[in-house]
Amino acid sequence: MPDPQISIDLSRIEHNARTIVETCARSGITPFGVTKGTCGMPQVARAMLRGGVAGIAESRFENIRRLRDAGIDCPIMLLRSPPLSRVEELVRTVDISLQSELQLMREISRVAERLGRVHDVILMVDLGDLREGIWPSDLIPTVEAVMELPGVRIAGVGTNLTCFGAIIPTRENLDQLVAHAYKVESVTGRNLDWVSGGNSSSLPLLLAGGMPAGVNNLRIGEAILQGGRDTFLEQPWEALDRDAFELTGELLEVKVKPSMPIGKSGIDAFGNVPVFIDEGDRLRGIANIGREDVIAEGLTPTRAGVRVLGASSDHLVLDLTDADPPLAVGEDVSFRLNYGALLTVMTSEYVEKVPMRDVMEQGLTRSYVIETDEAGRALLATHHVAERIERLGFEPAGAEASVVLSTDARRAGIMPFVEAAGRRYDALGLIWIDSEATMMPDDGEGTPAENAVLRRLLSRLPPHIAAENVVLLGLREADPAEAEALKASRMRIYTMAEIDAVGLRHAMREAIAIACAGTRGFHLCYSPTATDMSDWSGGIGGITVRETHSAMEMAALSGRLRSLSVSGIDSGLPATIGAECANFILSAFGKTIL
Ligand SMILES: *Cc1c(COP(=O)(O)O)cnc(C)c1O
Repeated sequence: MPDPQISIDLSRIEHNARTIVETCARSGITPFGVTKGTCGMPQVARAMLRGGVAGIAESRFENIRRLRDAGIDCPIMLLRSPPLSRVEELVRTVDISLQSELQLMREISRVAERLGRVHDVILMVDLGDLREGIWPSDLIPTVEAVMELPGVRIAGVGTNLTCFGAIIPTRENLDQLVAHAYKVESVTGRNLDWVSGGNSSSLPLLLAGGMPAGVNNLRIGEAILQGGRDTFLEQPWEALDRDAFELTGELLEVKVKPSMPIGKSGIDAFGNVPVFIDEGDRLRGIANIGREDVIAEGLTPTRAGVRVLGASSDHLVLDLTDADPPLAVGEDVSFRLNYGALLTVMTSEYVEKVPMRDVMEQGLTRSYVIETDEAGRALLATHHVAERIERLGFEPAGAEASVVLSTDARRAGIMPFVEAAGRRYDALGLIWIDSEATMMPDDGEGTPAENAVLRRLLSRLPPHIAAENVVLLGLREADPAEAEALKASRMRIYTMAEIDAVGLRHAMREAIAIACAGTRGFHLCYSPTATDMSDWSGGIGGITVRETHSAMEMAALSGRLRSLSVSGIDSGLPATIGAECANFILSAFGKTIL
């Protein structure tokens, strides 16, 4: 493994979100999910939303932009006041924000009025933690001043605890919050939407039945992401899963060395005077993870007997003497992380982020269904495709098939299949093998609809397909306007030049990984124009026939191909090309030479 990796199990995150949402609902609380621990990773936000959170809360605009760009259109709350210079961005991108400074709210109002909007705020009250918040005695004067601001609406009051002063949420301090909410309601003369009673650290009070009635929102990050590792320290909340994240590095050196350094000791690379205990000679290992990537103190090895001794910028020093089973150079070591360690890992550009799902669908039999038109039916019948698919071990099925095959004459014709595939799964990737980008502007005049298929698809992706899980493979030409659109899209594009450089197998392996990252599998769209077929003028692509088979076989081998569409199947297709297409389809169902 070249770089350290953090795996992110989206099913565990979804499970935690659902558990917390259901528990909160019993007390009349609607939680928002906080994604800042993962830098606003869209897949994580989607997992939280599947679990039922009412919206996403984030601390940084960069992360919010990442979420919005990925097509996440749920309510988004900004957890931190923006600098004055970014107020316009706030009003444009965020539905609701936490605020404590009148000067800033004046600016928000000015900008919101100019944009013809009203921005919702939750006024933060400082109940003693001494981070953000209006001091209680200033609350009513602030409310009265905000009521004069036409561009700002007071949507609620809230508080944040356990962040700076480590003040624990209790019935007493949250009772005060509810009392403040009543006062604000009587001054404004209307009900507040939200009384936001804190973060994950408020959950123990909720579980203990001490949450005052009147609190109707919590902003939950750590407990959803980490299952309350840092919140429920003494008594874990058993229903939550603590293992959604795992950091893995590789052992670069394993040697027996003394446990005491030799020579005159000074200060280490970080200005500390290290303290060592003499345990005699020990087996020590070095992993390729450092302080550039993680707060080493927040790591817990998953392997029994392994201990973290410390870290420098790029090296993690471990004691492996008691590792059970033992570890050797070149092997992987994995760690659980506390919240601080998670934050640093997610912001380290040296650590690869690998979203995944541990819990796959159960009892999925190999079954198929074909959706096609007359030309497609004729082609598939000529080449006995259905029988040959069945000989590969697939049963004919109804709607619940494990692989759906569709064909159409035009690229535009396969769009409904892609959309249907997107609806069938809660999260699906898309691999589009084509020589053309089909991204021309859809100007409605002159440009054939065929040229804008992918563009239209990207502009209205079904909710369960995310742009970051879309790959275009085999691109051979794009005019300048199209190239711009391609760069602006968030999909991964493998041009023929790149495929020539790295090889099709490598590109396809990466494409499958991207399409499967955090999804239930992928839909594969194949246009025969992607393949260089010598006796056909339509075959202008750069991928060879053999490589096309190889790509299809890899799709089958991944076990994650959920549906396949082939475009360009019409009655005018030369018989030899039709035969080739039928063979490609069979490769995608797992047919190999041996
Ligand atoms: C980070 C943050 C949260 C979420 O905290 P967790 O402990 O991760 O649940 C909630 N509210 C505010 C204001 C925050 O900054």
